[in-house]
Amino acid sequence: MKKIIYPGSFDPITNGHLDLIKRALIIFDEVIVAVAKREEKRPLFSWEERIDLAKKAIKELDLKNVVVEGYNSLLIDFCKEKNIFAILRGLRAVADFDYEFQMALTNRKLSPEIETIFFVPSPEYIFLSASLVKEIAKYGGCLKKFVPSCVEKALREKFSQ
Ligand code: ADP
Repeated sequence: MKKIIYPGSFDPITNGHLDLIKRALIIFDEVIVAVAKREEKRPLFSWEERIDLAKKAIKELDLKNVVVEGYNSLLIDFCKEKNIFAILRGLRAVADFDYEFQMALTNRKLSPEIETIFFVPSPEYIFLSASLVKEIAKYGGCLKKFVPSCVEKALREKFSQ
């Protein structure tokens, strides 16, 4: 069974992330969405909330063979623990390239048997980021094209607090 780990902050999960998961499911039998704790990045949603929202979004889209898990360790250690040797990352417009390249090569140095695979989203998501979604939510803009409705609801609640 071919499995791949899709790590990220998912603060919150967006249609861009979900587009990548759907593409990965064409090639892989199972996708593990690995939500990094990363509290030093001061996420809007807590680790538990981000995991819960990712699970709800997968359910809302009725995606099969997707598992959501949290991790709070070095990514390569999480991969080894799961016995999975493929990492999925996304490449949007040029902005992602430097960081993703650096991370993929560092992970390869640490663990040469683990391969990073890059997917490109549908053009409508190429400029979509969780930060942009939070900015739109903050000012009450329409989120329908960017996130599933369970995430839209959570964002509305968060910003009405
Ligand atoms: P991180 O903090 O690890 O970058 P993110 O949740 O921001 O976590 O992103 C996880 C991965 O998903 C990254 O590889 C990022 O490039 C990718 N990604 C995020 N949004 C999109 C999108 N709209 N289209 C394609 N890939 C995306």
